[in-house]
Amino acid sequence: MEIIRTSAEMTAWANRVIAAGETIGLVPTMGFFHEGHLRLMRKVGEKANRTVVSLFVNPIQFGVDEDLCRYPRDFPRDCQLAEAEGVDVIFAPEPQEMYLPEAHTRVIVSGLTDGLCGKSRPGHFAGVTTVVAKLFHIIKPHCAVFGRKDFQQLAVIERMVADLNFEVEIIGHPIVRETDGLAMSSRNTYLSAPERQAALCLFRAIGHARRRVRDGLVEAQVLLGEVEGVLHSEGVTIEYASLVDQATLQPQAVLRKGVVLAMAIKVGATRLIDNDNLFEEN
Ligand code: AMP
Repeated sequence: MEIIRTSAEMTAWANRVIAAGETIGLVPTMGFFHEGHLRLMRKVGEKANRTVVSLFVNPIQFGVDEDLCRYPRDFPRDCQLAEAEGVDVIFAPEPQEMYLPEAHTRVIVSGLTDGLCGKSRPGHFAGVTTVVAKLFHIIKPHCAVFGRKDFQQLAVIERMVADLNFEVEIIGHPIVRETDGLAMSSRNTYLSAPERQAALCLFRAIGHARRRVRDGLVEAQVLLGEVEGVLHSEGVTIEYASLVDQATLQPQAVLRKGVVLAMAIKVGATRLIDNDNLFEEN
């Protein structure tokens, strides 16, 4: 496995691979790998001849009060795990390699980024779309895999790719969970043992919502009240709990196919998100 640090070397590698008639699959990450990341790598390995994993803690997608400085990192371990998955290249640029001091361009997807995480994290999605657009130009992937755990991010990237004519197939990957239901996240390492227990309220809320939908509940407002009850029972702070359309991300009054329960909470100082497409088989 190669470790590449500069955009010029990365693009030279991509050009060689493409000239040889091979395809490139990309998994964009911020590192500190868990099983969720590894599944994305396996998925992209099935779809393309060569796999690139980008590992970049992207400063411009963090707000000033957020956890950029303490975001967990373990580059040697990440490299071992990626190599064991058969990854060809880790692209791990420094921030100054990705953002020149004179850089002034942001890629902004409007509308879809107004609600949910976009509301509580102003500027976050502009940071995400800007870095992903740059990665697509530098790495020239034929396909890229993104987790449904960040389901708003996936919708925003799909919109950007369609709107800006990127020739990249975007593949969504189901949420990978711990055996007790907690969605895997690099940020779970911030949780103390009691916080880790409290965080399970997200999965309990999903289970409750699925049961209510299966029993025929149609009023979104009623379900949201109950979901908030489940979350509050663990004393966590709710940033949002919304029932939105999976494509438009607009809040829905009526529960029907295509409605997603999306939640963001704070457990102590740790922000966690989770979501579930309530009408889809797991
Ligand atoms: P991150 O390193 O947290 O930015 O995540 C990199 C990619 O992995 C993103 O596409 C995430 O949506 C995806 N991902 C992270 N955690 C999970 C998970 N538990 N299940 C599925 N995908 C995930």
